[in-house]
Amino acid sequence: MNAPTFLPQTQRLQRAAGDPNWMQRSMITRMMRPVVVEDVVTVAPRLRRITLSGEVLAAAAFAPGLRVGLVLDDSLVGRVYTPLTWDRSAGTLTLLLYLNGLGPGSHWAQALQPRQTCGFMGPNTSVALPPPDVRGWMFGDETSLATAGALAAHGGLADRRIVLVLPEGHERVLADLGLADITWIRRGPEDKHLPELLSVMGQARLDAGPIVLTGEAAMITAVRRHLRDADVAASRIKTRAYWAKGKAALS
Ligand SMILES: Cc1cc2nc3c(=O)[nH]c(=O)nc-3n(C[C@H](O)[C@H](O)[C@H](O)COP(=O)(O)OP(=O)(O)OC[C@H]3O[C@@H](n4cnc5c(N)ncnc54)[C@H](O)[C@@H]3O)c2cc1C
Repeated sequence: MNAPTFLPQTQRLQRAAGDPNWMQRSMITRMMRPVVVEDVVTVAPRLRRITLSGEVLAAAAFAPGLRVGLVLDDSLVGRVYTPLTWDRSAGTLTLLLYLNGLGPGSHWAQALQPRQTCGFMGPNTSVALPPPDVRGWMFGDETSLATAGALAAHGGLADRRIVLVLPEGHERVLADLGLADITWIRRGPEDKHLPELLSVMGQARLDAGPIVLTGEAAMITAVRRHLRDADVAASRIKTRAYWAKGKAALS
């Protein structure tokens, strides 16, 4: 894929003619800001940590769990990610991108090279994570590693009640993310890991704090149903689906 060139207005309008989504496209081009890829590192079999820099990153306020949008190229296709770290003084942030091998976001991340540019939007609120002094639980998967890492780095869930379902080999990043002491479960074929996950998450009912569920939509639904069957108050459960089987681009 080509890096976006941030087309001048006249070209954008020419493209817009005959494009049924031109209003949405012109809104995106007005809202996005350019960022540069500074670094790309493969940190696990299908996980890449990327560092982005740009003026817009020096201006924004950061809290763990926020989402940002990346506009990948001139087609204006975009995908949403969670910052792992954000250094306002340097104008940089890092993301952890899981390579599912199926969609444009994954293909883009797989081919990404330093000095490439892309469009940046946000940050926006996504899921309310527990503040440092609150005990609670977090569940996620390979797309939630940045969420869990940012939470840990900011002192959230100091008792590390974090449970991640991870594909083979991805547990090796946990120590680097300050998550060596969390619970992780190997993702099995056809959701074979589900009974173990429900058993671990069932312990959350014994505590009183918030329970944050992120990652794959059907897994979130299964965990939420299990918790509610165990009489956990709905008000304790906060959810944000990051992806859904057979669906593209949740936001
Ligand atoms: C608020 C929010 C925060 C997010 N934060 C992160 C993050 O920090 N890191 C990150 O990697 N992702 C994150 N995601 C998910 C990320 O946006 C999706 O993984 C992304 O949409 C995948 O884009 P894609 O173009 O590769 O695939 P899509 O075009 O979206 O989907 C193509 C196909 O791939 C499948 N698919 C998507 N993800 C997976 C997967 N993990 N395993 C197997 N199949 C999959 C879909 O079911 C679909 O069938 C976040 C999503 C949201 C909504």
